[in-house]
Amino acid sequence: MQYGYQCEECEQAAWPATTRAELSWLRNRRHVVREVLGHVGGGLDSWIMEGLAFLDDHDGHSIVIVERR
Ligand SMILES: [Zn+2]
Repeated sequence: MQYGYQCEECEQAAWPATTRAELSWLRNRRHVVREVLGHVGGGLDSWIMEGLAFLDDHDGHSIVIVERR
């Protein structure tokens, strides 16, 4: 099973390679992670970068976690 983010308004999805729990964590703590990223200047896991990019693109939209086989 693969998990991803889906924007309910744009009907676009992203599938960062990680677990459902981590996707949920990132969605809830995006601003904290963004701050950490500002300090370390990159180098975080690629799923974090991919997830953040999607969340930023859909800022203020309704993002749900979806699954696919
Ligand atoms: Zn959107």
